[in-house]
Amino acid sequence: MKTILCAACEVQLVPSRNGVFVIQHAEFGPSAVWKADELKCPKCAARIVANFSNKPLAEYWQNKQFQAMLKLAKRDPHKLVECYDFEKSASAHAG
Ligand SMILES: [Zn+2]
Repeated sequence: MKTILCAACEVQLVPSRNGVFVIQHAEFGPSAVWKADELKCPKCAARIVANFSNKPLAEYWQNKQFQAMLKLAKRDPHKLVECYDFEKSASAHAG
């Protein structure tokens, strides 16, 4: 696992929720479901989502599989993160 530090506290983040579902939203609605981990700073409690799977679990064009995956992700609100500007931040990195 990669080392991820809290810049404010200068300590290593620790896993707080393993295997969270991340629902990526596009302009038309949900577009992909990812698996990732939530990490937390043990001092200031800042939380981040990292360790994404290499590929989404399902994407919108895989209609049946995608609907099933969305249902599964929404079943456990404690393991769900919805991301509404995923594509914007991804394209910002691409330049
Ligand atoms: Zn911190």
